[in-house]
Amino acid sequence: MKAASFDYIKPKAISQVIDLLQAHGDDARLLAGGQTLMATLNMRLSEPQWVIDITGIESLKGIRLHGDALRIGALVTHTEIEFSELVAQHAPLLKAAAPHIAHRAIRNSGTWGGSIAYADPAAEWPTCLLALGGTVIAQGPQGERRIASDDFFTGLYSTALQPDELLIACELPLAQKDHWFGFSELARRHGDYAIVGMAATARREGAALRGLRIALLGLDATPLRARKTEALLEGRALDANLVADAVACLREEVDPLPDLTNTPDTKRHLIGVLLQRMLPHSVNV
Ligand SMILES: Cc1cc2nc3c(=O)[nH]c(=O)nc-3n(C[C@H](O)[C@H](O)[C@H](O)COP(=O)(O)OP(=O)(O)OC[C@H]3O[C@@H](n4cnc5c(N)ncnc54)[C@H](O)[C@@H]3O)c2cc1C
Repeated sequence: MKAASFDYIKPKAISQVIDLLQAHGDDARLLAGGQTLMATLNMRLSEPQWVIDITGIESLKGIRLHGDALRIGALVTHTEIEFSELVAQHAPLLKAAAPHIAHRAIRNSGTWGGSIAYADPAAEWPTCLLALGGTVIAQGPQGERRIASDDFFTGLYSTALQPDELLIACELPLAQKDHWFGFSELARRHGDYAIVGMAATARREGAALRGLRIALLGLDATPLRARKTEALLEGRALDANLVADAVACLREEVDPLPDLTNTPDTKRHLIGVLLQRMLPHSVNV
């Protein structure tokens, strides 16, 4: 199929984008890497009157240190994140997760901001953002607004962004020496969207983890925190018994939605397998 006809515009400034969003509301869509939008246009799942190409806006590009955070611009591609020295040093979770996103051609075009704003519950970046406790920076007619990752994902493909706002960047806390990061997922073939996946961050304290954040993908309409499992593990010396208890707690805590080929029970089992594999690497059990 081909996309329905639309008007195309390529603004040079964020203020122009906001004016266009205000003028056209739901009749407009932003075009970033196009790796999701072009498919939905071509399948006529989306028929906007206006496509606003934001790729010419320089201020949305680049990865840099900003105070005590790592700032990733909306237009930074998945590949740029994968090979960034700053990301490797300050947000190694993203480096670990990047190769799981689709294939090279898609990673070369798809953007950080597009993935976070689209909020696919099986996508890697929203889950990593949640595990890191990052902040989304949105810009709209009233200026900039900061939204905590815990409050950003509101439903299936839905976020706290207002119709006249765009995501301009995200800020992530900088990794410290005593921090631990884990990323793991299960997919039928490399490059497929994952069946289930997990991103976790914590501070190591001897044989224990503190401030643990476990974010899950592929289980619900949004990426999810495993809050009961986090609380169970908080500050306790990790050994084989605690790992087994945590796996049981996680399987009890989640209520997975099925997909076309996997039942809730399969997903419940698989997410436990991921935790079982990941936790012993966090400290030396
Ligand atoms: C075959 C295939 C396999 C894929 N596999 C995976 C996978 O395994 N894991 C994964 O995570 N992703 C996967 N993707 C999706 C890919 O990562 C996309 O790049 C990403 O989801 C969207 O980013 P984009 O820059 O291409 O956004 P676009 O397609 O340009 O836009 C997507 C949506 O986000 C909105 N948008 C874009 N930028 C902004 C912004 N700055 N502010 C507000 N709204 C914005 C657009 O209006 C649109 O609604 C796959 C895609 C394909 C085609």
